[in-house]
Amino acid sequence: MPINYDDNTYEVIRNQDRCINCRVCERQCANLVHKYSEYYGRMTSDCISCVDCQRCVSLCPTKALKIIKNPNSYRDNANWNEAAIKSVYKQAGSGGVLLSSMGTPEAYPVYWDKILINASQVTNPSIDPLREPMETRIALGKRPQNIVRDGNGNIVNTVKNSLFLNVPIMFSAMSYGSISYNAHKSLAIAAEKLGIFYNTGEGGLHRDFYKYGKNTIVQVASGRFGVFKDFLNAGAAVEIKMGQGAKPGIGGHLPGEKIGEDVSRTRMIPQGVDAISPAPHHDIYSIEDLRQLVYSLKEATNYKKPVIVKIAAVHNVAAIASGVARSGADIIAIDGFRGGTGAAPTRIRDNVGIPIELALASVDQRLREEGIRNEISLVAGGSIRNSADIVKAIALGADAVYIATGALLALGCHLCRSCHLGKCNWGIATQNPDLVKRLNPETGSERLVNLITAWTHEIEEMMGGMGINSIEALKGNRLMLRGVGMTQKELDILGIFHAGE
Ligand code: SF4
Ligand code: SF4
Repeated sequence: MPINYDDNTYEVIRNQDRCINCRVCERQCANLVHKYSEYYGRMTSDCISCVDCQRCVSLCPTKALKIIKNPNSYRDNANWNEAAIKSVYKQAGSGGVLLSSMGTPEAYPVYWDKILINASQVTNPSIDPLREPMETRIALGKRPQNIVRDGNGNIVNTVKNSLFLNVPIMFSAMSYGSISYNAHKSLAIAAEKLGIFYNTGEGGLHRDFYKYGKNTIVQVASGRFGVFKDFLNAGAAVEIKMGQGAKPGIGGHLPGEKIGEDVSRTRMIPQGVDAISPAPHHDIYSIEDLRQLVYSLKEATNYKKPVIVKIAAVHNVAAIASGVARSGADIIAIDGFRGGTGAAPTRIRDNVGIPIELALASVDQRLREEGIRNEISLVAGGSIRNSADIVKAIALGADAVYIATGALLALGCHLCRSCHLGKCNWGIATQNPDLVKRLNPETGSERLVNLITAWTHEIEEMMGGMGINSIEALKGNRLMLRGVGMTQKELDILGIFHAGE
């Protein structure tokens, strides 16, 4: 009898008194957990394949199901915890690198939760956003050095090639292939309605989505999947992906199971074969090389579109950003190590990089010290979870933020972290046509619009509370922040005082 080392993490509990054998769960579970047994005359479960996506639980008409953590735990200890033991079993069986999805679940500090926001009282009154105008619009790109006026004294707009956003929030890069057609469509429609941008990621742009171009950022990554002249000109900005927070130092990985006919056509790669983009761009080994690519992309787009360079938050991120600011790029996007991914080696995701809060603060500080902060905009991403995180990011120096996991949650994601398997029961991280159609892009985009609208109201309230009426006045305004439960070193890097100071 072979020993079973399978990962039996979840257990499906079915209340037989409530179950009416309607077989909805069987139809809804792409992992084939539920099955009707003619022999027993009732539903049965193969719990080993359950990823706890909660689809069957949500759709069971009699609420007969619940998924629990399997109480049969390994005999772990402080050193060898359950995850460490299971990893060894898996790798001893497969001989392969462990892959994971979404951001790291490890308990690293979340600095957003150690930062508190100020409010005005008495001498510096707060502003009521329901009665007074609040400015949430921003422009991303280079700022002019001087104010220029025409002969009549009117200010002349010398800002070129900026991205204008109604709110300082954008949907971060998620490629067609890692997420579904309907997920992409939801993001595109929502970005258009909100007056913001979504990002193609490294998967090219499906022909159907060219019509959303003015709200699209097209991405050029090391694999150059789907990159050609029409693609570059289809978007409002071009992003060069040098790094990603969840997997700094390595390339992208889209498993072959997710590369069907449509994805293969869009990416211009063969069907069914893993798409692995190289770790470096093979034409970039210095800031001068990066500058060449920045200007090649500007040339290809007639110098009409801003170029974003996306980097992962790593130890020397401030020095890297300082170089990028001199490459001719208009915007730097910094991706923190808690950021999500469709697929990344587990060890890299959980051990490489630094938190976005520290990276953002040190980059903003370095660019200010060098007198070049105005030359470039900063976009922060990598685990922005709510409107308060956004306010804190902007006060730490960001011009805007990227969100991705938050957007997927709005679409129905239940964070089962199984995107790399291609069987997302919510129709988001899958290319299986039967699963894709579970996500209605009209409903999806509506939920995204609701989320960003709600966050915008909250941002306005928090700004009003601080006595601030524009995002511009909040930007880099670290006096509005105080830290709790941090060391002096952490406070120094964040450039904020401790609460009570
Ligand atoms: S994988 Fe999802 S749908 Fe399938 S049994 Fe588990 S929770 Fe239910
Ligand atoms: S996108 Fe789908 S597969 Fe990925 S974590 Fe969310 S629910 Fe799970």
